[in-house]
Amino acid sequence: MDCQRCGACCAHYRVSFYWAEADDAPGGHVPVGLTEPVSPLMRCMAGTNHRSPHCGALQGQVGQQVGCRIYADRPTPCREVQPGDPQCLKARAAHGLTD
Ligand code: SF4
Ligand code: SF4
Repeated sequence: MDCQRCGACCAHYRVSFYWAEADDAPGGHVPVGLTEPVSPLMRCMAGTNHRSPHCGALQGQVGQQVGCRIYADRPTPCREVQPGDPQCLKARAAHGLTD
């Protein structure tokens, strides 16, 4: 599986994380302008808390050619999904990417 030709997980889940991963906290790295509040302690990537999630940092077309605008600074959940794992396969199936 080639993530650069997929992006399904960036357009399927709410990508939420501890607020201090954002760069308005000391040591934070995720650009806060690309996040939305979820609760007093949690944020998510903007666009992922919608009925049809789509991360605001995702460029390109899901299933064709994609890129993450903040790849080096992406939050923890983005680093945990691995190609071929259950979360990956569920997201791909939801986008009709079954091979
Ligand atoms: S981890 Fe899976 S769903 Fe996410 S971009 Fe890569 S192949 Fe697609
Ligand atoms: S921050 Fe990057 S890797 Fe994470 S969901 Fe958004 S586009 Fe995907």
